[in-house]
Amino acid sequence: MIAHLISIGNELLMGDTLNTNASWLGQFLHERGVQVTQVYTITDAPEQIKSTIQMALDKADLVISTGGLGPTLDDVTKKSIAEMFGVGMRHEPSVEEHIKDIFRRRNLPYSPSNHAQALLPENAELLFNSSGTAPGMLFKEQNSLLVVLPGVPHEMKHLMTTQVAPRLQEWGALNSLETRYLKIAGIGESHLADFWLHNIEASLNEFTDLAFLPSPGQVSLRLTGRGLSRKEAESRVDGLRLKIQQQLGDLIYSDEKEGTLDRALGQILSQLGYRLATAESCTGGLMGHLLTESPGSSAYVQGGIIAYDNAVKMNQLGVDASVLEQKGAVCPEVALKMAKVVAERLGVECGISSTGVAGPGGGSPEKPVGTVWLGFYTPAEHFAVRAEFSHSRSFNKLRSVITSFEILRRCLLGMDELPYNLQKVYPASVKRMDQPQKGSADTSTRGDLLHS
Ligand code: AMP
Ligand code: MG
Repeated sequence: MIAHLISIGNELLMGDTLNTNASWLGQFLHERGVQVTQVYTITDAPEQIKSTIQMALDKADLVISTGGLGPTLDDVTKKSIAEMFGVGMRHEPSVEEHIKDIFRRRNLPYSPSNHAQALLPENAELLFNSSGTAPGMLFKEQNSLLVVLPGVPHEMKHLMTTQVAPRLQEWGALNSLETRYLKIAGIGESHLADFWLHNIEASLNEFTDLAFLPSPGQVSLRLTGRGLSRKEAESRVDGLRLKIQQQLGDLIYSDEKEGTLDRALGQILSQLGYRLATAESCTGGLMGHLLTESPGSSAYVQGGIIAYDNAVKMNQLGVDASVLEQKGAVCPEVALKMAKVVAERLGVECGISSTGVAGPGGGSPEKPVGTVWLGFYTPAEHFAVRAEFSHSRSFNKLRSVITSFEILRRCLLGMDELPYNLQKVYPASVKRMDQPQKGSADTSTRGDLLHS
């Protein structure tokens, strides 16, 4: 089905109002299998309105206009359409009652110009507008449908979803749409598309869609299925979801639209009966903040120490002064020690830590801005991971936290692969690295750093 959209209003052409109605309708229709091939933006002039609607009806199966339905003299859409069809106006008592009711409730006098809003071209089917005063209208003409909607965006959307879409669906013109979400952390969008979901993307058809919605350190996959019925759309989207789940397995941390990484991690900690403590330097408390975003986090979050100054790292977390002196705060020894000691001091099974160069200053050739060592201490493992995020300060902090949550999640699930192909550094290998070696100790542990 081909659709044309007509946006009516002088303010749209003068740049006073952004034409958000056309973009919203474009997306709404596209997602439901209707192809919008043309959008006209025109003035509130009767001749212009008549000729544009006529032209659109000649070319498209569905024409939707917005705007020009207000009670004032500059709104002439309704009158122009009646003239175009050569019909008179009829009075709709239900609309007048509704408008009077709105005025009564607002304690405003009913004005004559509002009476005009209850008049419709004789051949119009009423689209009752419960969220405003201007009614919508539907016309069946020349094997095409003309839908006339008010310009106020929330009224237009309301009429479109509650009145127009069900009618179009009934006539088989509009597909049903079902969406699902799958959430992944620690794999960049392009890496996910190229190495994990390439075949699935290639198998998509006109009834299925897959969208990648990235945020720092994470990607939400939005899956869409379309069909003539809801059941058909559901079965298509669920088929696609199953294929992706089989491909990605435990890399998917949530299959809910509102699912968050901290909650996914919390669920695993709870199932294992573990509690978590944090020792944060460069993330400054963001680990603790994000861990406690979900209700019920007291079941697995013990607490934490923000060890920003080296004095806190030494006095509260047992970091050796000699290590800080020789290697600085951003090194695996410090991350390892912080994670272990915070878990021990707070009396819990798991500890995570961060120490890094958040930026914008403080970088060096060996430790550029964005270099972060993350520490992990669990009943099964004790290791540190070096990551490098080279963006803004707040981005580096957020990426550090998201990456640490994902590493701990994978570690607790017994998965071997770390995010971005990062590598684990164990306490024993740190000791070995202390001895003089060929090449840089850091680069030998870095692995491939992939950034989305
Ligand atoms: P109207 O139905 O022409 O009286 O429009 C009512 C209100 O909706 C005005 O404030 C317009 O600026 C706004 N409006 C009209 N058309 C659009 C559009 N295409 N996109 C966004 N807002 C619009
Ligand atoms: Mg207008």
